[in-house]
Order: sequence, then structure tokens, then C-alpha cells
Amino acid sequence: MAPEKPRLIYRVAVPSPLRRLFDYLPPDGDAGNLDANQPAPGFRVVIPFGKREVTGIIVKLAEDTDQAVAKLKPISVVLDTEPVIPPELLRLYLWASDYYQHPVGDALAGILPVLLRQGAPLKARTQEYWRLSTHGLGLPETALSGAKKQQQLLQLLIAHTSLTSAAIVEQGISREIIRTLHKKGLIEAFHQAVPDCNICADPKTLLAEPALHLRAEQQQVMDSLTLNGFNSYLLQGETGSGKTEIYLQAIARVLQAGKQALVLIPEINLTPQTLGRFQRRFNCEIAVLHSGLNDRQRLDAWQGARDGRVRILIGTRSAIFTPMKEAGIIIIDEEHDSSYKQQEGFRYAARDVAVMRASREQIPVILGSATPSLESLYNCERGRYQRLILNERPEGVSKPRWQLLDIRQSRLSAGFSTPLIEAIGDTLKAGNQVLVFLNRRGYAPLMLCHDCGWMAQCPNCSARMTVHMGQNRLLCHHCENQQPLPGRCPDCHSHALTFVGQGTERGEATLRELFPTIPILRVDRDTTRSKNAMANLVARIDDGEPCLLVGTQMLAKGHHFPHVTLAALLDVDGGLFSADFRATEKMGQLITQVAGRAGRGQKPGTVLIQSHLCDHPLITQLTGEGYNAFASTLLEQRRAAGLPPCNHLALLRAEAESAPDAEHFLRVARQRAEQLTPPSPALRYLGPLPSPMERRNNRYRFQLSLFADHRAELQQLLSELCPQLEKEKSARKVRWSVDVDAQDML
Ligand code: ADP
Ligand code: ZN
Ligand code: ZN
Repeated sequence: MAPEKPRLIYRVAVPSPLRRLFDYLPPDGDAGNLDANQPAPGFRVVIPFGKREVTGIIVKLAEDTDQAVAKLKPISVVLDTEPVIPPELLRLYLWASDYYQHPVGDALAGILPVLLRQGAPLKARTQEYWRLSTHGLGLPETALSGAKKQQQLLQLLIAHTSLTSAAIVEQGISREIIRTLHKKGLIEAFHQAVPDCNICADPKTLLAEPALHLRAEQQQVMDSLTLNGFNSYLLQGETGSGKTEIYLQAIARVLQAGKQALVLIPEINLTPQTLGRFQRRFNCEIAVLHSGLNDRQRLDAWQGARDGRVRILIGTRSAIFTPMKEAGIIIIDEEHDSSYKQQEGFRYAARDVAVMRASREQIPVILGSATPSLESLYNCERGRYQRLILNERPEGVSKPRWQLLDIRQSRLSAGFSTPLIEAIGDTLKAGNQVLVFLNRRGYAPLMLCHDCGWMAQCPNCSARMTVHMGQNRLLCHHCENQQPLPGRCPDCHSHALTFVGQGTERGEATLRELFPTIPILRVDRDTTRSKNAMANLVARIDDGEPCLLVGTQMLAKGHHFPHVTLAALLDVDGGLFSADFRATEKMGQLITQVAGRAGRGQKPGTVLIQSHLCDHPLITQLTGEGYNAFASTLLEQRRAAGLPPCNHLALLRAEAESAPDAEHFLRVARQRAEQLTPPSPALRYLGPLPSPMERRNNRYRFQLSLFADHRAELQQLLSELCPQLEKEKSARKVRWSVDVDAQDML
């Protein structure tokens, strides 16, 4: 008997919670011979999976399988004739699903545009053009003189030989006219490949406006950038110091070299202003990718970048996984922003994936921030990133003056101390604007019965309900639960209900009472829900009329408010004693960002911090010496405590309807883990412990922390542990997840 010919097996990523690939045979009728047209890695295929048919992606070809070949099923349909995901990007996807310990099929499904996931075809990379038919070519020049527009189109096509419908319409000729000439047989359509961008090659056509003349220190930064090959840079400079100008000029160089640029920004910064700035500078095609797009728009931008039509792609977190025909640079603005980490499902950190992608594709990556993350500062310290600093404040702007207001024992009216109220009044009188920062939306974070001590608690969560006066309701910010605002205490029926603490809504109400004639603009998630709300608010602020801005961190990010000369932070103490070890870092970033809002333009600014902890060393260092000194102290503390970024952390979380189930699962997980890698000074286990928010949405939550000195050791452990846990009996009663490089400890 002849030896059995090796078979071709397809390893396919299937959307499923299982951490493995699934093996399939070639489609029926295909003998599995190696030939040019066979499906390859990156192709989408429809495959039978259980009782359903699903769309998966071929990840590998193999010659053997550990399944019984007789049980394998053939691929039902091959959807593509070329890989939707180019091979090097597919390898990045696989690395990321591996590194973040997420089931590969599920990770891939989450990254692909919905339409592709549903099996929609890639659009052909050709475009329809119009040209004169033989009949049209034979016409005398004076033909159609009775029909002006028709004649105009003929002449256009004589001058340009061929044009797309869009280009014709741009010349003021309607589609109707195109149809008419087509019916008359004078013009004909043909398809042709979209040409490569020829705008970019020439600096004259690339730039729609001239680049700014760089200031000396900007020029120094520019000169330090090596834009061919992999290099990571941390560009630190406060808002307004000219980082974006550097991005634009670096991008221009990359585009001229025939490559594309990928720019990541936090969701909140993706405003029409940001896009406008890029569009004003460049003539080439720019696309955006963010959560507000519909499926078709998303696919268009994605494919435009993949095919090379789109030269600059600006997007939020998930855009990091967009294929680019020829990526030339990655830029991550506000790199410290926590929105770059996905907090559910596939828990990747876009910043870190970006650096990995840049290194694989051998291109530069620039991380920009006024307040760099400790992770990035640590990477600079270790020589992994090159640190570039813009020190100068923009023209004519002096440093803000810090003022710490100790409010211990002082009387507060709804959170505002008398000196603060006076400072606000003085600023308004001088014709300037005031920003009041309160990092909490709603009216008050707590409703309390003064007689019996009842508190409005969410029945589903270990959290209090937030009072929302505008809606006359109690809302839980952690689940969907909401209730009408009670008129009396549900326990003792007393009317003595009080509100404790302040949110933005209450801040607004208090200020309205104190300053009845001044316009007050509230900026938080509740007032900016509708589409143009934020833009309208910003436009009013830019007017420059004296006004009061009250808002959450939405106010701290991205926008310049040149007329604000007083920024007040009402409640930052929480950042100093939170259960989350990152809370101080976030507090410092926020305070610095808020301070950056005050005193732009020509007006010097004051930053006023009201606190019970004015003499806390971190607060005095931050305000006295600045963010860098503050960050160095934090980094030392993290090093001493063996916490990230000096150490690696993975969090195993479990939640269940009963607390013992969740805890038990993690106990088992710890046992299994310790069998694989016994605890040592270099690999430490902590837990299972109840999560800081122990109950959420009616489920009890626990966590097990794994700290490791060496990333590789932690990775090795997790990749052996997770498949074991999938099979664990106690896993059936819980929802569990792994969070590698967890950002949010709650
Ligand atoms: P950042 O990105 O750090 O916030 P920007 O690049 O947006 O800073 O610069 C802030 C403002 O200063 C912008 O209006 C920008 O046009 C302007 N600007 C930046 N660099 C220069 C320069 N070299 N000359 C003149 N204006 C500049
Ligand atoms: Zn009561
Ligand atoms: Zn709740």
C-alpha cells in the first residue's frame, strides 16, 4: 500500500470562547493539492461549527492534526481570493491574542469590521471611469452646442481622457448628464485600478497649507527623530507646546516617502477640530475610525487604509489593528489616557500593541503626552524609548500659579469654601472665565436619611446610587438600575433626607445661586450626549464672555480655553487613598491637565486646589516641582512595592451569582498555577480577594493577582494555566477573565 499522502489541514480561528484553533479539511472538490489558488492564512471561510455555520479566518496550514481525520469537516465556502488580513498583521493579531490571553477567534472577530465578519466581500480595488466612445471621439468639436452641460462633459473628457463620476460631478456636471451621454452612446464606462496616491510624492501638492516654521526646541525634536526603521519616542510637552505640529511634520516626511500614517487619539479628542487640523494641512486622503461610524463607513475607512488609498488614518483604540498597505509611522497622542486599554473582552492596550506593531513593521512610533504614564517613563529610563521634551510654553504664556486651599475645619457651602467663592467672583469681575473641576457627574454621590442613617444603596451593586436631580432619579453608575428619587426615607418615613458630596449638577446649582447673572456651562457625559453638544459648548466658551465652566474630566482634555484664568479643583482627595494603586498617578495627570487649561492666550492663570490634604507630600511636590518630579516619586514607590511598571501584573477575575463560587474558582486557579510555577520572590500570588467593588450587577466579584519580575515567566504560566482553567469544572459556575497588564483594579 502506498504511504498516505500528507493531507492539507486548515487551522481556523473561530469566534468562540475557547483558546484554540479548529482544524478543517479543504473544501469538497478540492483535493487539497498545493496550488496557487488555494485558501491561505488571512482568508475568511465559512465553516460548520457545532450546529451552525460561522465565518472564521484561516490562521495556519498544516499537514497533520491531533483530531481524528475522519471527524474533520471540510470548509463550506471560501469567501476571499486574497487574504483580508495581510500575513504580517495576522501575526500581530496572534501575538496580541496570545499575550492578552484572549481566545484567538473571539479576538479576531472583535477586531474585524462587522461587515467583514458577516461575510461581506472586500470591495474591488478598481474604480469606474468614463471616457469617450469611438462614436464620441468622432464628433466634431461643435457637436451638442445646443446642450451646454453635455458639451462641457465631452470637452472635459477630451481634455482629461478619463474621469470618475465623482470627478465629473465635482466639475458641476450632474449624474443625469452622464447618463444622457451614455444613452446616446457617446461615452462609455471602464474599470481601472485605483492609482497610487500621486499627491504625496511632491511636497508642493502634498501640503495644502505651508508647515509652520518650527521653534528652536521643536526643530531639535524634529532633528532627533529617525523616521526610517523602528524607534520609539516619548514626546513630552504640555498642551499647546507644539506636539501636534511635530506629528504633522513627521507625517509629511513619511507620506513623501510613499508611506502611510496611523494616528491614535482618545475617543474624547476625536473632534471635528482635530480632523480639520489634519485636513487643512494635507491634500491627501484622510480617514477616521471611531465608534460613531456605521458599519459601511467603518469598512470603507478600514479598507481604504488596507488598500493604500487612505494615506492618514486617525482613529481611537481599535484602529491600531487596521491593516495598512505600507505603514510608515504610528503616533499615539495622549498616550497616558486610560481609554487605550480595553476593559472588557479582549483586554489589549493599544499603546503597547502599537509599539509591538512598529517594531514588527520596522517603523517609528511617537507617544505624545503632557503627563506621560509611568509605564512610558519607565521605558525611557530603561532606554527602550527615547525621551524628547518640549519645555517652552507657547508664546507669551506664563506658568500657572498654584494655590492650595486647606479646607480642614472651614465652612463649605455645598463644597465651596469662602476663599474659593471670592476668587471666582474676582476672576469673573475682571472679565475672565472660571473652570470648576468636579470629577463626578450627577447631583450628589450619596443620599442619606439624617434621622435613621439609611443610605440609597444600589440593590445590585456594592455601590451607592447617585442622585440625578435633572431626571429626578437615583441612578447606579455601575449597572442599569434606577429609581425615582424618594420623597421620604424608605425605612423610617422621615422627610429628613440629605444629599452628601457634590457632582457637577450640584456644582452648577450652587454656582447659579452664588452668581445668578453669570452664564454657567456644564460639561459632562450628561450634557454632551447629543451630537453637536460638545462643539456648541466649546464654541460658547471660545466666545470669551465671562462664564463659569463646571465639568468632569471631559473639561481637562484636549481643548484650549484661552479665556479661563482660574481653574479650581474641588475634590481630589479621593485619588490619594483609593484601593487602586494607579489612582495617585491618575490624580496627578488630571490635576496637571486641568492646570494646563488655565491661563492660555495672553492671560496668566491660577490653579486652586481645595483639599483636606494640602500638606500631603505628593500634592506639594506636584504643585511645587511639577509632574516629572511627582512621577519620579511615584515610580520609586512602585519599584519599592514591586508594582507595575517595575513589575508585571496579571489579574484573574471571576464573578458569579454566589460569592463562594467566584472565590472557589480562583482558589482552584491559584492551586493549578502554583503547581505550574510555585510561588517565589520573582513570582508572587495575591488572593483570591474580593474585588474593590465586591458586587456589581448582582454578581459577586473576586480577583487573584499575579506579580512577576519577568514578563516571559508570567506569559509562560498564563498560557499553560488558561487552557487548564477552561476545562475546570468550577469554571462553569463563574464568568472568569484574565487581564494582562491590568489598568483598572476595580
Ligand atoms: P500640542 O499638540 O502640544 O497641544 P500644538 O501643536 O497644537 O500643540 O500647538 C499649539 C498651538 O501653537 C497651535 O495653534 C499651533 O498651530 C501653534 N504652533 C505650534 N508650533 C508652532 C510654531 N512653530 N510656530 C507658530 N505656531 C505654532
Ligand atoms: Zn430614615
Ligand atoms: Zn448598580
